Amino acid sequence: MELTRTGIGFDAHRFAAGRRLVLGGVTIPHERGLEGHSDADVLCHAVADALLGAVAAGDIGQHFPDTDPRWKDADSLDLLKRVAALLRERGARPVNVDVTVLAERPRLAPHAEAMRRNLAAAMDIPVGRVSVKATTVEKMGALGREEGIAALAAAAVAEEQAGE
Ligand code: MG
Repeated sequence: MELTRTGIGFDAHRFAAGRRLVLGGVTIPHERGLEGHSDADVLCHAVADALLGAVAAGDIGQHFPDTDPRWKDADSLDLLKRVAALLRERGARPVNVDVTVLAERPRLAPHAEAMRRNLAAAMDIPVGRVSVKATTVEKMGALGREEGIAALAAAAVAEEQAGE
């Protein structure tokens, strides 16, 4: 019997000078990037947490601690690939993911297709099962003041047998 499990993920990173802005593995032209131990790809981090959440396997902070030099400037698509592999080791696989990025600027819609392709490749699922959306927050709060970018993700995971 196959069981479908769902998970959610959320992440936020603040902007910092002198950093590349990487979202969904796409380097986006912008005057600042996001601060973080890895490449600070907030979108990949939210998706990875949604996948881990679906199988109740903790979060990316546990699997890839920012105190570990191995993950310094890590490519977050690679972290996502590792999370998908961890799921498969447990007899589970990603079915689909849906992401919303909250950013006042820059405009992300032109990059959504490239992000979808990157995420799908990292998880080894068809691109038609990956949704990437973006919204502003109407200039409200910290995100509205462009202090950083946040992302929310939902994922469905199929598990071969009902897990404990
Ligand atoms: Mg993060």
